[in-house]
Amino acid sequence: RLDLPEVLAEMVHLLNRLVGEKIRLIHSHDPSLGPVRADRRRLEQVLMNLVVNARDAMAGRGTIRISTEAVTLDQPLLRDGATIPAGRWSVIRVSDTGCGIPPDRLGKIFEPFFTTKRIGEGTGLGLSTVYGIVKQSGGYVFVESMPDQGTTFEILFPVYEGET
Ligand code: ADP
Ligand code: MG
Repeated sequence: RLDLPEVLAEMVHLLNRLVGEKIRLIHSHDPSLGPVRADRRRLEQVLMNLVVNARDAMAGRGTIRISTEAVTLDQPLLRDGATIPAGRWSVIRVSDTGCGIPPDRLGKIFEPFFTTKRIGEGTGLGLSTVYGIVKQSGGYVFVESMPDQGTTFEILFPVYEGET
């Protein structure tokens, strides 16, 4: 049982070191966000991978915004070919003001070893790892991107409804 804002708060130092001084990292949270059921180390890995990708997309300058939102679906929602079941969801968004992803590339970025980075700068395993971890937690990943404007990754985790 994890509290996303709490996990993020504990990572702020690390994330700031990762992005460097010229990239602004801001975050805001929905106070009514529910807890999620996930492994802490894996959740940290998801957030780290998304933030590193955002940094790499920004050529040294820009803003990365991390935000959360509590979402309740009264009925299943069809989105990008996936059917999200009704229920309570904790959403986390990581947005950057970077180079964006061309539409014809969006279908490939979650494939293992797909990378547009040079040797030594990327393995192409970040997003496939993110996808695997989120799926394993019963969640969903979406991406929206505008070339030259930026990219937003959105992750939905089911709210943990257990007692503890
Ligand atoms: P890697 O970062 O090692 O290349 P990833 O699986 O993390 O591998 O990402 C795969 C590819 O998806 C990247 O090489 C890049 O082309 C694209 N990508 C991922 N995140 C972003 C982003 N925030 N902005 C632009 N492109 C991105
Ligand atoms: Mg990566």
